[in-house]
Amino acid sequence: MIVLGIESSCDETGVALYDGERGLLAHALYSQVALHAEYGGVVPELASRDHVRKLLPLLREVFADAGIERTQVGGVAYTCGPGLVGALMVGAACGRTLAWAWGVPAVGVHHMEGHLLAPMLEPEPPAFPFLALLVSGGHTLLVAVAGVGRYRILGESIDDAAGEAFDKTAKLLGLPYPGGPRLAALAEQGDPQRFSFPRPMTDRPGLDFSFSGLKTHALNTLAGLAGSEQDRADVARAFEDAVVNTLAIKCRRALQQSGLQRLVIAGGVGANRRLRAQLAELMRARGGQVYYPRPQFCTDNGAMIAYAGHCRLSAGEHADLAIAATPRWPLDALTAPAG
Ligand code: ATP
Ligand code: MG
Ligand code: FE
Repeated sequence: MIVLGIESSCDETGVALYDGERGLLAHALYSQVALHAEYGGVVPELASRDHVRKLLPLLREVFADAGIERTQVGGVAYTCGPGLVGALMVGAACGRTLAWAWGVPAVGVHHMEGHLLAPMLEPEPPAFPFLALLVSGGHTLLVAVAGVGRYRILGESIDDAAGEAFDKTAKLLGLPYPGGPRLAALAEQGDPQRFSFPRPMTDRPGLDFSFSGLKTHALNTLAGLAGSEQDRADVARAFEDAVVNTLAIKCRRALQQSGLQRLVIAGGVGANRRLRAQLAELMRARGGQVYYPRPQFCTDNGAMIAYAGHCRLSAGEHADLAIAATPRWPLDALTAPAG
């Protein structure tokens, strides 16, 4: 079955075609980063309008790239939550309507299930069960994954998500939005010995995270400095090391508690090189295996939605004819695919 996937939960419009037999046929992405940059964050109404503008051109592009006809599509998947309600409604309305017009089933996909299953698009996908670390702009989750739709949340952030903490701290450092990758680049020049930031909530049992204090710690450290390029790079490095090390400590704990031997890292912060290196080292020491999506599929994309949708549509799961979005939707509310 060939599935069309549509992602529009935030500030990226993503479209892809995934074939159960041949794999990913084509994908296209348009990022609204430049549109929102002057506001220092995503403006929901501008995001919705831009999804309206970009969705149909991207659809034409993936069909041309894949070299297939609309009649070959067996189902349509669209992100229906969590995310910005207006942005989600654009993708849901487009996806649900196309499926109705083409006479094929549709399914609404949970955005974080998309992120979680993104490593399945790689040449050596993980087998179930595995531990997943989902680190994105809006989420920090440790999830025990028994299969598609079989998720147990082991830990999550009680305040800022990891990506949010990167972006807010980058702003303090004077870096333009979205700052996460820019902070990581600045940290390359930093001296790891100069400052040591705390590893929040690692001194007590449990698998939850808290990242808002690190941002304050960065602010207070900067306040006592002249603010040279080297100062900023050193603070960036100390911040990055603290976030990465905290995530690694909690991953190690979750692996010990669950006995799992495979670790999946997904979501935008999963593109962070230092995080990847530290978690790869952790799994090597444990004799386990680490899996990630290719960097471009760590952040939002249509391919992960087409894949997750294929898992559910090929098992017979269908949405009704309503065009609906669920802006708040816990990942562990999902169930295994069912017709
Ligand atoms: P969610 O998936 O929770 O709804 P989102 O879709 O906005 O949130 P993603 O697109 O998965 O999040 O990831 C974007 C986040 O990843 C941003 O916060 C960005 O700063 C962060 N990020 C991307 N690359 C890096 C990097 N190399 N180092 C640190 N953070 C990064
Ligand atoms: Mg984004
Ligand atoms: Fe995302």
